[in-house]
Amino acid sequence: MIPPSVAPLQQQNWQQCLRDAVTSPRELLDILALPANLLDDIEAVCRDFPLRVPRPYLDNIEKGNPYDPLLRQILPLTEERLTTPGFSLDPLEEIPANACRGLIHKYPNRALLITTSACAIHCRYCFRRHFPYTENSNSRAQWQQAMDYLSNHKEINEAILSGGDPLNLSDKHLEWLISSIAEIPHIKHIRIHTRLPVVIPQRITEDLISTLKSTDKNCIMVVHCNHGNELSRAVITGLKTLKDNGITLLNQSVLLAGINDHADTLAALGEKLFSAGVLPYYLHLPDKVQGTAHFDISEAQALSIYRELQAKVSGFLLPRLVREIPGQTSKTLVHEPVSGD
Ligand SMILES: *Cc1c(COP(=O)(O)O)cnc(C)c1O
Ligand code: SF4
Repeated sequence: MIPPSVAPLQQQNWQQCLRDAVTSPRELLDILALPANLLDDIEAVCRDFPLRVPRPYLDNIEKGNPYDPLLRQILPLTEERLTTPGFSLDPLEEIPANACRGLIHKYPNRALLITTSACAIHCRYCFRRHFPYTENSNSRAQWQQAMDYLSNHKEINEAILSGGDPLNLSDKHLEWLISSIAEIPHIKHIRIHTRLPVVIPQRITEDLISTLKSTDKNCIMVVHCNHGNELSRAVITGLKTLKDNGITLLNQSVLLAGINDHADTLAALGEKLFSAGVLPYYLHLPDKVQGTAHFDISEAQALSIYRELQAKVSGFLLPRLVREIPGQTSKTLVHEPVSGD
């Protein structure tokens, strides 16, 4: 076996993988041997939020199975066009929390930077599907404003690169952002929220690793994986390489109806993540964003799955079950009603 640190990570150029992503519904159905009658629905839905799926991710989907848990994350369905009461366009009320262009400061000690609007994959349940990204995509000069904000707010000790997907940025741009943040003395942690290592494992390049190692700040990467089938050999190799290079790896999942809403599925995911050097961090209840009601899980259902999961995995493999309530100063832990509540 090849030790992970010298595995041939750069065989295929990740930028090529980004460009080659499948965006044509017809091609998707062809590749996955799915019935062509799905096409009309998909095309109508794609006008609002286009189909996008990188080919390495497609390789993990079972052909001919319309219920594959990875397929359901990327397949546009007519249900997305339903208007559901209680579901909004900006459920997290992020838009008013825009402290300056490209920066969201909702929780006192940490600020989130919207580094790019682009994602490598379009997840159909995404809570940012209606976010006004174009108003938040910064040029370098505009970034200075965000850096000044970080410098002037001494209570912020962590900068979180988010998006879109920050690893969509070139290594050069990323290096510039990270080194600019690293110049701010009171920032202790630099965190990257990304789905790229899971959907295009080729993204874990030597250059990326040297960029992440170039700072003496703590570097944390929170990946986003919802199902064990997403962790192919290539994905595991990439993650292990990051871990071996001193990056702290955590995972957040979204609890999604029809995808991972079983304790066994989540337990298997946790074990597999651990074998790739990643600890489960958050299990999010889906945000109530318009067009995603078919993925929704009630709090009672979520708690029942979670209770079962807790009995199946060691404590360190148990993610925190959370939901986001606008106006709160952190994510909100979802827990059993305590007697007397
Ligand atoms: C989720 C989130 C964070 C990070 O929260 P943690 O609980 O530290 O993971 C920071 N800022 C915003 C706006 C967020 O939505
Ligand atoms: S990668 Fe994240 S931000 Fe991008 S579409 Fe998927 S869930 Fe949304």
